[in-house]
Amino acid sequence: MAVGTEVPQLVSSPRWWDDAADVLVVGFGIAGACAAISAAEAGAEVLILERTGAAGGASALSAGHFYLGGGTPVQQATGHADSVDAMRDYLTAVSPEPDHVKIDAYCAGSVAHFTWLEAQGLTFERSFYPGKAVVQPGTEGLMWTGNEKVSPYLEQARPAPRGHKVNVPAERGGNEVMRVLAARVRELGIRVRYETKVDHLVADGDRVVGVSWPGGTASGAVVLAAGGYVMNPDMLAAYTSRLASHFVPLGVPSDDGLGIRLGQSAGAATAHMAGAFLTASFYPPAVLLHGIIVNKAGRRFVAEDSYHGRTAGEVVAQPDSTAYLIVDSEHMAWPELPMVKFIDGWETVALMEAALDMPVGALQETLANYNVAAADEHDPELGKHPDWVTPLTQGPWGAFDLTPGTATYVGFTLGGLSTSVDGEVLRADGSTIEGLYAAGACASNIAQDTGGYSSGTCLGEGSFFGRSAGAHAALRRQEGD
Ligand SMILES: Cc1cc2nc3c(=O)[nH]c(=O)nc-3n(C[C@H](O)[C@H](O)[C@H](O)COP(=O)(O)OP(=O)(O)OC[C@H]3O[C@@H](n4cnc5c(N)ncnc54)[C@H](O)[C@@H]3O)c2cc1C
Repeated sequence: MAVGTEVPQLVSSPRWWDDAADVLVVGFGIAGACAAISAAEAGAEVLILERTGAAGGASALSAGHFYLGGGTPVQQATGHADSVDAMRDYLTAVSPEPDHVKIDAYCAGSVAHFTWLEAQGLTFERSFYPGKAVVQPGTEGLMWTGNEKVSPYLEQARPAPRGHKVNVPAERGGNEVMRVLAARVRELGIRVRYETKVDHLVADGDRVVGVSWPGGTASGAVVLAAGGYVMNPDMLAAYTSRLASHFVPLGVPSDDGLGIRLGQSAGAATAHMAGAFLTASFYPPAVLLHGIIVNKAGRRFVAEDSYHGRTAGEVVAQPDSTAYLIVDSEHMAWPELPMVKFIDGWETVALMEAALDMPVGALQETLANYNVAAADEHDPELGKHPDWVTPLTQGPWGAFDLTPGTATYVGFTLGGLSTSVDGEVLRADGSTIEGLYAAGACASNIAQDTGGYSSGTCLGEGSFFGRSAGAHAALRRQEGD
């Protein structure tokens, strides 16, 4: 169902307000919960306005990975050295337009943020999952969830695993995250109005002073934490059309971008709106990482051991977004996730090349060159890690189709409102909109595109910058601004 790109009108203050608080938080996912908790911890009276009948949002659907580092207790307990500098170097290297102020704050505050999350009741097992997977199958608290060990980032930043998952098996972590945070919200006595879809911001001149919804108004500083826009086909078409045509949206129905449009109604700028995470992961099993990925010209273009989101972005960028994973019979296996289809097997590479409609000799040359270097566990072309570099010489050879449309790509949006490091919403000229904050998927913070996304960046930054926004809004309110 189309929900439009329309920006709601800003409305002026009513004669009387139906409700009031120091800080109004719009949306009860991770960003809203953390904003509300930190505002309440700072002494503010907080009211959460949630459009549905329960806390959760997309956060409750998530796997429960948080991208944190710099020497967290889980990293320390599992023997993984990390530093603020190494984390900063990595996030800077993977970001198309790194926001140095935010990256610095996020990395420098990462260990303290981990401690804060545990203080809210979340638990992270002091254990490590060494395998290459999308989500660890068990309750291990740490795994690699980015491109830290992948060329060229390996040469640019000292690698460390930073994907911290809450203490529940497999991908069910998000539900636990929101259960715990909602309990903390209750414990702090924070009021919540459910079934309350905020549809306008209320302004007094240039300053945001409250919100309205059908049948009600509330005054206070406003933190928009209303999620992304992956469920709004019109916004997808307007901002990220190439990706829109290629992926199945991952999210909840209320991810319709209303939070972003509310911000725009007050004059907010947006950032990285074309950015989206997408994936059609062919691993696990990790043995498939020994294969090579080629485009329709039979040429490699991405280190195959990349995080699956990076691989997906590179596939989509190829001519006709066409790509294949090629394996020999020594490394053949079936993907555990039903996203990528097997095409066929062939007795020779020449037959495979012809069947895949590649230029004569191209794939044969690519594979021959790869195999020569692979005999020395070396990949001079793309720097694939030696762990995954072995010659692919045992026929028959098989191909999986990574092309969107045949392979099932899923994803969610990353762009959103421009914000300061404190979560203040910004205009295009960089000035702040008084009384208005944003965090989580309706704001742009650390993750800018699928190449730079690591599993855990959204919960990490949503909780981190949500927390900052709540604290800052509370402080400004106490100062009487
Ligand atoms: C299947 C899946 C797995 C994922 N796994 C991970 C992971 O492991 N790690 C990670 O970092 N990221 C993950 N993500 C992404 C991550 O879940 C989201 O980016 C993040 O949860 C967004 O948090 P949020 O608080 O901004 O939004 P949400 O959690 O979506 O919360 C927004 C809330 O606002 C409410 N709302 C919307 N509009 C209004 C309105 N007008 N008025 C009032 N309320 C409103 C919504 O109902 C919702 O409750 C995953 C996403 C999916 C879908």
